[in-house]
Amino acid sequence: MICGTIIYVMAKKTFQIAIDGPVAAGKGTTAKLVAQRLGFLYVDTGALYRALTLYVQRKGVSWEDEREVVRVLLEEKPKVGLRVPSEEEKDGRLCTVLLNGEDVSWKVRTEEVSRGVSVITQYAGVRDLITPLARQIAEKQDVVMEGRDITSVVLPDADLLIYMDADPRERAKRRHRELLMRGEDISLEQVYKDLMERDKRDSGRAIAPLTKVAKAWRLDTTGMTIDQVAEAIVAKVKTV
Ligand code: C5P
Repeated sequence: MICGTIIYVMAKKTFQIAIDGPVAAGKGTTAKLVAQRLGFLYVDTGALYRALTLYVQRKGVSWEDEREVVRVLLEEKPKVGLRVPSEEEKDGRLCTVLLNGEDVSWKVRTEEVSRGVSVITQYAGVRDLITPLARQIAEKQDVVMEGRDITSVVLPDADLLIYMDADPRERAKRRHRELLMRGEDISLEQVYKDLMERDKRDSGRAIAPLTKVAKAWRLDTTGMTIDQVAEAIVAKVKTV
């Protein structure tokens, strides 16, 4: 019997922090802060889906028309991407969102896009465009990646898995404040209603639903400041 020697070339594994949670649980702002403190890249996967949603909206395709949404995206292959904001781009955004090279960082934050994105992310054909892209990013550098299926689908073997949550009324107030600051004229009740609908769709969908995986650390941010949440995560990183 011949015994061969197998040489394993170990690829350097990046450090990955995966965060999931419902709308306005505090994922974005705290993930960005944690990424800055640790020198990691902050990756907002919701923004990538939002950029695809904006593309579909501009084409005049109805969110509900799955076949047409997927056809347009597969045939036209819009390029979506993220980058750390340059000096001139620092206007309160967490990251710069690109759609075919155009800076759409704020255009993807409207309530209309928010409604559309939770509809089209139910389609497998749409998810199949972002999941591999997100994994590629995380293979190349240390990341704090947030979304709805990062702990369950995209990076289930991440070094730290976090499920971030907060009281729904507080989440609605946070989101309402954000929208008012951006000049959107919307009532708190409407924001609460939209948030509940999005949560329901995100948790109830057949593919990659928002869920707390068993291994994930549950972090309830109700009553916590952004700084306190970031501190808690950085402290947790030191224990893994
Ligand atoms: O995080 P954000 O609210 O910007 O995400 C927008 C929407 O994109 C979510 O409501 C969810 O429907 C979808 N999403 C997703 N999977 C992700 C990230 C976001 O389905 N990983």
